[in-house]
Amino acid sequence: QCAAVCPTGAIVVKNDTARVWALLDDPDVKVTAQIAPAVRVGLGKEMGMEPGENAIGKLVAALKHMGFDEVYDTSTGADLTVLEESNELLRRLEEGEHDWPLFTSCCPAWVQFCEKNYPELMGNVSTCKSPMEMFAAVIRENNRTAGRRKAVHVAIMPCTAKKFEAARSEFCSGEGQDVEYVLTTQELIRMVKESGVVFSELVPEAVDMPFAYKTGAGVIFGVTGGVTEAVLRRLASDKSATALKTLAFQGVRGLEGVKETTVPYGERNLRIAIVSGLGNASALIERIRGGEHYDFVEVMACPNGCISGGGQPFAHAEEQAERSEGLYKADQVSRIKRSEENPLMMELYGGLLKGKVHELLHVEYPLAKGAE
Ligand code: SF4
Repeated sequence: QCAAVCPTGAIVVKNDTARVWALLDDPDVKVTAQIAPAVRVGLGKEMGMEPGENAIGKLVAALKHMGFDEVYDTSTGADLTVLEESNELLRRLEEGEHDWPLFTSCCPAWVQFCEKNYPELMGNVSTCKSPMEMFAAVIRENNRTAGRRKAVHVAIMPCTAKKFEAARSEFCSGEGQDVEYVLTTQELIRMVKESGVVFSELVPEAVDMPFAYKTGAGVIFGVTGGVTEAVLRRLASDKSATALKTLAFQGVRGLEGVKETTVPYGERNLRIAIVSGLGNASALIERIRGGEHYDFVEVMACPNGCISGGGQPFAHAEEQAERSEGLYKADQVSRIKRSEENPLMMELYGGLLKGKVHELLHVEYPLAKGAE
């Protein structure tokens, strides 16, 4: 087994590039991939493109050139997360008796931090799997029902924390890990270079069916505030374009480590906090312990969210802002901007997910039960 040093210098992490190359060379194995939102704006500069440029089409083309059979976009998994997380928030609001706030759960480093430092809060962490794990469970189920040949799923992610998430027992079925291998953006860059392809000259390609639909809401998951904005789009009763723009300027965007906003919902006002960086998360938790009320709190372990994940090429503040801009531009040109309007969602909930929503899209972390 080969190993690479974590960019933070804190740990030695598993490097799976050799294993993935071996799989890609095996004609009996079908290899699928999903690409996280932040990756598309994180590799451009290293590959001869503009900093923050959205490289999703070229990424798909590069993965196909390397031998991946099917390539998907984790933004589709993020659309599932938006629907499930907003349902969870609505259910809590209706029931009213829960401890508040509801914390997001898509960042595995935050979940692990909470388990270690604030186990009593694990009952407040959303039961939603991360977009990567939701999507992987759906892809596995689709392969299983189609009686597909041996299939292996690889996720291209902005951080090494996703490797640990993939290996957690909660995300393993009888067939093994739902995500067998996680490649960081940096590992992928190395593999693309090894493949000999000239990335900047690739003709962009689209992701594959049957999971080709995604929305702008799913794409902005890669930057701090994106999850909250996507959930608010879903909750908003006014679905007009003006309402959408108003939401964007309601305090959810921007690269500050702590953002707060109040959004009217029915007869009440929802108090929302968005934090990135675990120091900021701890400070907010102390304020909550001191009696401050929040209904919904988004936490991302990396400052500014996944755009500056530890598996991405290093970026100074200016480039981080360009990556953020790259994701918002991708949202702007998306034909569908709300997760509930993604036609694939309707198809999945009416078919593959019928009777399996809890099993495929939710997780029960061991400490969550005791914390309730
Ligand atoms: Fe990974 Fe950082 Fe994103 Fe968390 S915020 S999922 S640690 S890149």
